[in-house]
Amino acid sequence: MKALRYLAPQLVKTEDIEPPVCAAGEALVRVHSAGICGSDMYIFSGKHPRAQAPLVMGHEFAGEIASINPGPGPTDLTVGDKVTAYPLLVCGRCWACRNGQAHVCRNLKLIGIDRDGAFAEYVNVPLELLFKLPPKLSYAKGALVEPLAVAWHALAMAGEPNWQTAVVIGSGPIGLLVGLCLQDVGIQNIIMSDINAHRLKRSARLGFQVFNSAAGDLAGLVDQVTDAEGADVVFECAGSGAAALQMCQLVRPRGTVVVVSTHKEPHGVDLQTVNFRELTVKGTRVYTPQDYRKALDRAADLPFTELVSHMLDLDRGSEGFQIMQQPEDVCKVLLNPE
Ligand SMILES: [Zn+2]
Ligand SMILES: [Zn+2]
Repeated sequence: MKALRYLAPQLVKTEDIEPPVCAAGEALVRVHSAGICGSDMYIFSGKHPRAQAPLVMGHEFAGEIASINPGPGPTDLTVGDKVTAYPLLVCGRCWACRNGQAHVCRNLKLIGIDRDGAFAEYVNVPLELLFKLPPKLSYAKGALVEPLAVAWHALAMAGEPNWQTAVVIGSGPIGLLVGLCLQDVGIQNIIMSDINAHRLKRSARLGFQVFNSAAGDLAGLVDQVTDAEGADVVFECAGSGAAALQMCQLVRPRGTVVVVSTHKEPHGVDLQTVNFRELTVKGTRVYTPQDYRKALDRAADLPFTELVSHMLDLDRGSEGFQIMQQPEDVCKVLLNPE
């Protein structure tokens, strides 16, 4: 089968490799659509602490079941079912696993990072991780369920959405999806910031109030919108040191800050402000199965043409990784193995 493999830092190649063999209790999924994620770019950079070359990346995907190797447990899945995967592999033994919080398993692994994933014609997936797509959902939208689940998890972690003003720092795919979830729950004032003008244009087209942090101080706009009280909630989706430092300063007393992005180093946080304003700062990692189901329910309504900037055949997969590195107008890049 054709597969796009990570071979070395900055090197991915579409090659012909043996299709995966399903263990008992796994299905072989014929991939129709798979998204390139920030964490795939991290692997591509060669700095990911766990990923080992050669690796078929890809953890955001949808396809149809080509065959099933049954396990001991029952399954309601059959060949031909349209599915997406909850790509988390958990140990089942640690504190988080024993306490119903397996998504923060201390030994958390992912399909497409710790074992071969979906940038290929076929991927093998444990049956219990497969979710059926709603009948009318396209495969391409099915590939957006995973990042959308990240966004719904961020909202779930933020608590009751009784907010007037929400700020999203960082308008990449995850920031945009968080913004769309905030629209979905009816938040009135949603401010999206970024330093990339293309991303801000995209956000503006989706109906958000936008701010270019490269050109001025976001705090000024937040003050203006909130009569200097501060936002009720801030979602940090940029992953930068500047965002980490600023996120608490934008929130009102007793407000909430949600850290959605993955920080590659321990960035400084303004604890003085956390202190004085009695802020709640919440970390978030991936999603729970409930968040995944929520994302499956809501994926049909996504503004697909704004979110997906490029769709490429698997043969052009390495181009997809080049596109992701350009400062041009890029949002989600999908690879289609057919
Ligand atoms: Zn992802
Ligand atoms: Zn565990």
